[in-house]
Amino acid sequence: MQYFPIFLRLKDQPVLVVGGGTIAVRKIELLRKADARVTVVAPQLHASVAEMVDKGVIHHIAEEFKPEHLNGMRLAIAATSRPAVNAWVAHQAEVRNIAVNVVDDRELSRFIMPAIVDRSPVIVAVSSGGDAPVLTRRLREQLEAFLPTRLGRLAELAGHWRKKVKQRFAATDQRRRFWERFFDGPAAADVLAGREEQAQDSVEQSLRAPSTPDDWRGEVALVGAGPGDPALLTLRALRVMQNADVVLHDRLVSSQVLALVRRDAELIDVGKEAGSARRGQEQINALLIDYARAGKRVVRLKGGDPFIFGRGGEELEALALAGVRFEVVPGVTAAIGCAAYAGIPLTHRDHARSLTFVSGHAKDDAVDVDWAALAKPHQTVVFYMGMHTLEEILKRLLEHGAAATLSAAVVEQGTQDLQRVIVGTMSDLQARVAAAKIASPAVLIVGEVTRLHETLRWFNSTAARDHLARGALLA
Ligand code: SAH
Repeated sequence: MQYFPIFLRLKDQPVLVVGGGTIAVRKIELLRKADARVTVVAPQLHASVAEMVDKGVIHHIAEEFKPEHLNGMRLAIAATSRPAVNAWVAHQAEVRNIAVNVVDDRELSRFIMPAIVDRSPVIVAVSSGGDAPVLTRRLREQLEAFLPTRLGRLAELAGHWRKKVKQRFAATDQRRRFWERFFDGPAAADVLAGREEQAQDSVEQSLRAPSTPDDWRGEVALVGAGPGDPALLTLRALRVMQNADVVLHDRLVSSQVLALVRRDAELIDVGKEAGSARRGQEQINALLIDYARAGKRVVRLKGGDPFIFGRGGEELEALALAGVRFEVVPGVTAAIGCAAYAGIPLTHRDHARSLTFVSGHAKDDAVDVDWAALAKPHQTVVFYMGMHTLEEILKRLLEHGAAATLSAAVVEQGTQDLQRVIVGTMSDLQARVAAAKIASPAVLIVGEVTRLHETLRWFNSTAARDHLARGALLA
């Protein structure tokens, strides 16, 4: 982060603007909106600045800039058309530890001004640190169109009701939930639509109504985090992650996905070694139940989809038994995500008429599945957790009649920047995977559809780019 974003309360605070021309006008107008006490130093003034001086809303020193003008100022803005003067102002402000902005010169500026959408008291500020002003402007335009015009009024009313809500609900948890419901509910919609009286009534009513214990009961959302790319989260997943008090997640959940969890939520990595042993399933179930009973909104975040090799069912059984409310949010499972990002259509009228997801996890040292069925042609089989048992899987399929030329692929870290795809046949895939040092997480996709990767690959992961670059260097 190159710039630290803050909102500064400038009411009645002295701010110096050097320059009284057109460049200065917009800055002065903005400072006036924040009720700053503006002093303009300039031998001459633009008509609209002169008008503000005449009205007495800003103060004017009709001189060239002198360092003493900075005395006692909170901020300074250098807005003359002469670069040397601006640099001099910037230097003098820096020496005095006064934050300075030089219009159109970020090198000389201590602070820069973001593009803003003003729905006071709501203000949205956007900045690219000066790298991409056109992009920033686009974003600002999109936000301008997206944010309701009465948003400011909604915030104002919320501010007005804040005290009453605080009296009504002692616990911060409860208050937060009240507000979340309020902003999602009909009262907020009324305000945004200009029906303030109705909103007023319904808020007063809900503040008077006794709160039922049910309202504040905890709940668990079992959420699929997808295979890694945060863009594959569902809107519902994002919603519950943003409202969570506690998030229990697996090792597989990517850091980019975790970054979207509400900042104040407690994050617990239940895939990590806790003490000496990994947390057992029993322990995770107990944690979920305890947090929910303590009234927390719990998100149980799992890689991919929670119902596909995710033990989601077992956790829900425990919750149901304990009488804890829950919901399930599906996710993009690894097979679907990896296939899409590898350009491998899992079914295809010419190559595969059925699709099977299998666990390649070994129990008692063997993978226990119906090999004869999986070795048949015209289908696609995706093995999860099959990297340790890859050799056995390929061997068994061959033994049960799969052709040695049957195509298969391994997708490592699918949908992520480090995605790698290795395509081979029943007879050479193992060697290729070993040579590439493929590690977990990876899925094995068996079937002729994997040949399509060659023509349908589209996702340029960093790993693939590195690979290409190395190839180009060797050539
Ligand atoms: N519930 C998860 C699966 C959990 S089992 C889902 O629906 O995807 C763990 C296995 O999933 C891993 O061993 C690997 O085979 C697969 N997997 C999960 N994420 C993956 C990814 N990003 N790339 C490749 N395989 C992945």
